[in-house]
Amino acid sequence: MPALRDDHHRERPYEASVKRDIRLAILLLSIISLAVAIATAWELWSARERTLAETTTHNLNLTQALDTYVEGIVTQSSMLLLGIAERLEHEGLDAPQLQRLNELVQRQQHLLVQLNGVGIYDAQGNWLMTSTGPFPRGSNSADRAYFIHHRDNPSLEAYIDGPIHSRSTGVWVITVSRRYNDAQGNFAGVIVAALGVQDFLRLFGKIDIGRTGAIGVATSSGQVLVRYPFRESDMGRVLSRSPIFTQYLDETTVGSATFASSLDGVERIYAFRKNERYPLVTSVALGKDEALAAWRADAWRTVAIAFGLLMVIVVIGSLLILAIQRRIGTERLLRDAREDLIKANRQLEVLASRDPLTGLENRRSFDDHLIAELRRAHRERTPLGLLLIDVDHFKRFNDTYGHPAGDDCLRRIGRVLADSVRRPADLAARYGGEELAVILPHTGPDGAQAVAEQFMQRLQTANLTHAGSPLGRITASIGIATLPGGSDSSPQALIEAADRALYRAKAAGRNRLENAPTLPGAAP
Ligand code: GH3
Ligand code: MG
Ligand code: MG
Repeated sequence: MPALRDDHHRERPYEASVKRDIRLAILLLSIISLAVAIATAWELWSARERTLAETTTHNLNLTQALDTYVEGIVTQSSMLLLGIAERLEHEGLDAPQLQRLNELVQRQQHLLVQLNGVGIYDAQGNWLMTSTGPFPRGSNSADRAYFIHHRDNPSLEAYIDGPIHSRSTGVWVITVSRRYNDAQGNFAGVIVAALGVQDFLRLFGKIDIGRTGAIGVATSSGQVLVRYPFRESDMGRVLSRSPIFTQYLDETTVGSATFASSLDGVERIYAFRKNERYPLVTSVALGKDEALAAWRADAWRTVAIAFGLLMVIVVIGSLLILAIQRRIGTERLLRDAREDLIKANRQLEVLASRDPLTGLENRRSFDDHLIAELRRAHRERTPLGLLLIDVDHFKRFNDTYGHPAGDDCLRRIGRVLADSVRRPADLAARYGGEELAVILPHTGPDGAQAVAEQFMQRLQTANLTHAGSPLGRITASIGIATLPGGSDSSPQALIEAADRALYRAKAAGRNRLENAPTLPGAAP
């Protein structure tokens, strides 16, 4: 049984090649799966990049529009302030003059919706006029940053500041202010245009920037002027830690960046633009999560489809490999069964061609071989020898020692003959009873005689006791017939020739060999 199992484990070339095929199939499946995975990942990544790029472009465009809008409002405010300063400097500060200016502002206020009001203060910050109506006596704005700026700074340029709570209206405003001088060119006071933060927010609120988007206008030093969505706590905060102000604006006036807001911690995709005329920075930002929401939904769908595809590939591939393996198993079983059958047949053949008593070939096998060898000898023009051996006085042996002893003796004689016939092509057979025969292919008269003598010699050496024989031991008589190369003879003719020679050996006194005369029909 272990030998059998070994047989099963020995890998045949066919199985090795199928195993290689399976490995190739697995490799192919792996490569396809990997390719699908990489292609999917690549598609997801590039779609994401596209979405982010589109968001940035959209933000930049919006920043450009809002920057222009804010610049326009500041410019309009500056022009208004310039006109008022011009009149103050040339026409003085008397009550009728201030009244006329107030009326002028009232009329202009309808044209500039963001304008919350205009105030005129003297050199000590005392209120001289406000477009928003009467004010308490003693109202003063000397503490305001813009007032201090203009008082200490001779520049006549407009100054942007805020946001602050308006002292006249109580709402959040951004201030655009400038100073005016007296006739000697000394500081005479400040004119302030207050722009309502709410008015900016009203416009920003109409722009779709999603739930987590933000629009902001800040000074170039990072102070928040307006921010949508509005939060009271953001007013006036300084974004000095925001990357826009800490890194980007140092290098560029327009750009985009993605980071978490320092105000509310939400990660956004920002676009920002620094105004070319005023120290203002406008930014538009969309929540990154929100911007990528549509992409994410698509991505899940793509991943699901790719995963499904991979599963199909894996399942089909596994079924394929399983089928191949099952087929190998079946084929192996069939092959093993066939090999077993061949082995059994071979054993059967051996059993069928062997003489059970002596172990030599039997008569049937002898007949078959003789026909085959005669044909071959004729075809290949080679000689063929035949020995017919008959044990001498064997009847007496049986009579003396009994039939079983006779059988045993025959077995020994068979072994002696087998030992005398050494060439692989030679065939020793039990011709019948106590008669043996040897077919000697490629063997002429000399060779045949040598084999016969060899046998007789060995039989003598074996010295099998036979009291009924004149020599006291087993002897045999041999008839030799040989066929020269190329001659055409029937098996019967050859056997008869050898038999006649054997008869002559018997007649001549036994324990000898006799050659048959050259057979008729031999080739020249
Ligand atoms: P010889 O050949 O010398 O003329 O004398 P013989 O006694 O051998 O005569 P023959 O060849 O005619 O006799 C054959 C005898 O061999 C007959 C039989 O008793 C014996 N014999 C034949 N086959 C067997 C066998 O299978 N077993 C045994 N024990 N004896 C056999
Ligand atoms: Mg006989
Ligand atoms: Mg005999």
